[in-house]
Amino acid sequence: MIRSITQKKSDEEIDHLLEGLDRIFIIGCGTCATLTHTGGLAEVEAMGENLSGKGKLVTGEMVLPVACDNMAADILREWSEKMNQADALLIMSCAFGVQSIAQQTSKMVVPALDTLFIGKQTGAGQFDEICTQCGTCILGETGGICPVTSCHKGLVNGPCGGTNNGKCEIDNNKDCAWTLIYNRLKDLGRLDSMRKLQAPRNHQREPSPGKYILPF
Ligand code: SF4
Ligand code: SF4
Repeated sequence: MIRSITQKKSDEEIDHLLEGLDRIFIIGCGTCATLTHTGGLAEVEAMGENLSGKGKLVTGEMVLPVACDNMAADILREWSEKMNQADALLIMSCAFGVQSIAQQTSKMVVPALDTLFIGKQTGAGQFDEICTQCGTCILGETGGICPVTSCHKGLVNGPCGGTNNGKCEIDNNKDCAWTLIYNRLKDLGRLDSMRKLQAPRNHQREPSPGKYILPF
């Protein structure tokens, strides 16, 4: 399953972000942040205890089923009394959830987590980045393996000169992405794709802020 992968900001950074804000309402997310143990019920409760210990008044704490879903607005309304007592909402979700909640409240919102990447779970408590949403997808030329995220150098023409017995020169515990791509294309009878020179990545295809309009 695809997830927004987050990690908790340092206590020092959260303390800095909450300077001058004494009454805090804490919101977690029951989906990605729960799976990554960064913003589920246990983490929200721990954050509440931590802030109380530092002299903050926690007016309430709750976990939205899906923080990035507009349906969260209805649930937030049910908590409006306790939210209104707070100087700020401390959000323990990915940045998508933080922005969704910010659009539904006039309260100051403060993120407690950093959003790292879109990833998938590859083992217990382990997540691998699978896509940086680069805007120029070349999976069709690479047998469905993404070199932008799987290759340490993000090479779209590979391998580099450092591949060694199928391992990456930067991390020899990791398979070389371009060796995997080679093997996959060989199995598919599509090694001709390896001989094509991919154009340099077009960073104009990565506009920020991103916007897309359906063509109808
Ligand atoms: S090439 Fe990789 S990073 Fe770019 S869109 Fe495709 S999967 Fe995502
Ligand atoms: S060894 Fe392979 S995965 Fe590592 S940087 Fe070079 S091409 Fe990329």
